[in-house]
Amino acid sequence: MNSGKTVTIIGAGIAGLSAAVFLTEKGFKVTLIESSPKAGGRAYSFYDNERKMFFDNGQHILAGWYENTFEYLRLTDSLNYVNFQRSLEVNFINKKKEIFKLKCTEDKPPMNLVMGLLKYKALNIVDKIYLKKITALSDGNAEKFRKYKNARELLKGLKQTKNLITYFWEPLILATFNTSPENVSPELFVNVMKTGFSESGNSNLVIPSADLNKLLTDNAMKYFTEKNVTFKTSEKVVSIDITDRVNFVTLESGEKINSDIYISAVPFFSFRKLFDERVYSENNFKAEKMKASGIISVHIFLKEDMPDEMIPENSLGMTGLIGTTVQWIFIRNRRHLSLVISGADGAGLNEETPERIFEICKRDLNETIRNFEKAEIEGYKVIKEKRATFIPDRDSENYRPQQKTKYENLFIAGDWTDTGLPATIESAVKSSKIISNIIIN
Ligand SMILES: Cc1cc2nc3c(=O)[nH]c(=O)nc-3n(C[C@H](O)[C@H](O)[C@H](O)COP(=O)(O)OP(=O)(O)OC[C@H]3O[C@@H](n4cnc5c(N)ncnc54)[C@H](O)[C@@H]3O)c2cc1C
Repeated sequence: MNSGKTVTIIGAGIAGLSAAVFLTEKGFKVTLIESSPKAGGRAYSFYDNERKMFFDNGQHILAGWYENTFEYLRLTDSLNYVNFQRSLEVNFINKKKEIFKLKCTEDKPPMNLVMGLLKYKALNIVDKIYLKKITALSDGNAEKFRKYKNARELLKGLKQTKNLITYFWEPLILATFNTSPENVSPELFVNVMKTGFSESGNSNLVIPSADLNKLLTDNAMKYFTEKNVTFKTSEKVVSIDITDRVNFVTLESGEKINSDIYISAVPFFSFRKLFDERVYSENNFKAEKMKASGIISVHIFLKEDMPDEMIPENSLGMTGLIGTTVQWIFIRNRRHLSLVISGADGAGLNEETPERIFEICKRDLNETIRNFEKAEIEGYKVIKEKRATFIPDRDSENYRPQQKTKYENLFIAGDWTDTGLPATIESAVKSSKIISNIIIN
C-alpha cells in the first residue's frame, strides 16, 4: 500500500486536487503546485466586497453519472454538500410564459427518458412519433453515427422535430457541452447519452448545496494537512525538463522540484508553455488548437421578496428558459436569482458590457416570468468566464491527449484530456482516476 514514491502535480484545479487525493490514498507522497493564490481552478468562489457575500464563478451542475467526482467528494468528506434528484426533472418556460415539466419516470433507462418525453406537454403527437428514434442512441455505438458532421446533423438524421430540438435537445446539449449542437462531435454526444441513460439514476441532476470552495477545495485543504500533502500556492511551474523521462520541474522562483512521477493538471490554454519546442512537437501535442467557450453568470437582486406567482415551478431551484439568451434561472432565495448564459461566445456576449448583459437578462425575464416587470431590481452582478470549457467539435478529438505519455513518469490530467467526456468536473476527475489506476498498477 505505502509505495513511498513521490509525485509532483502541476495545477490545483479539480483534476490536480483529485489526483493528489487518489494518490495519497494509495500511499504516495504528493507535492501539489498551483500558480494562483488558491485551489479550485475554473471552479471556485470569491468574496465580493461590494455585496458582502460569496459568489461562485459560475453555477456548477453535476449529474448522477459523475461517479469519479462522488468518490473524490466522499474521500474529502464533502458528499453532504450536494443534493440529488430522485429522477431527472426540469421545468421549462417559453416566451408565452407557458410552463412545461419534463420528468423522467423511474423505468429502466432509456425508457425513463422516453416515458418522460411522452408525458412532456411541450411536445405534440408528431414530435412523440419521432421520439422512438432516440433509442438508437442508447446502445452507445458511436461508429454508426460517424457519417454525421456534428450533433445537429445527427439529430436531423434521427428525424428529430423542431419542437423536440427546441424544447429538449438544445437545452440538454447547451447545458452539457456549453455550446450549440453544430459544435458538438457526434461521437462525444452519443457517448454522453449512453453514459447518462445507461443506468438508473445516471441522468438525475445533482446540485451543490454549498458554495464551490466548500464543495471542492476547503475539505481537500484539511485532508492535505492531515495527510502531509505539500501544497504550494502562488508558485508557477515554468518548465518541465525532459530527456527520455522527466528529470525535474522548474518554478518561476527558480526552485527545482524533483520526484519519481509528474502529472500536468493545467488547462489546455496553459499546457503549451510547460514544454520546449522539441518535446512539444515530438509528442504531437496540439492543446493550443483547442477553442474556448465562455459562460456568463448574472445575479439579480430584488428589493422585495418575489411573490409566489412569480416563482417558476422548479426542482432544486432550477428552471430552463426556451427561446431566450438566458438558459437557466436558479432561485437562491426570494430576492436573489442567478442566471446562466452558456456558450456566451456563440451568443456574441463575451465582449459585451455588464450593463448590456444585464439589459438582455431583464428583457428575457420580463418575457418569460409572470409579473417580473413589477419586481423592483435593487442590483446585479455579472461574472464572465471566457474560457470556461473547450468547444468539443470533431477537430477537438484530435487535440485531446491521452493521460499516459511516452515518458514512463509523465501523465496529463484535466477536463480536456481524452476521457470521452465534455469539459466537466467529471472529465477532470476521471482523468485523474485513469492516471492513479495506471500508476498503481
Ligand atoms: C462558469 C463555469 C461553469 C461551469 N459549469 C459546469 C457545470 O455545470 N458542470 C461541470 O461539470 N463543469 C462545469 N464547468 C467546467 C468545470 O469547472 C471544469 O471542467 C473543471 O473545473 C476543470 O478542472 P481542471 O482541473 O481540469 O482545470 P482547471 O480548473 O483549469 O485547473 C487547472 C489549474 O492549473 C493551474 N495552473 C495553470 N498553469 C499552471 C502552471 N504553469 N503552474 C502551476 N499551476 C498552473 C491553474 O491556475 C488552475 O488552478 C464550468 C466552468 C465554468 C468556468
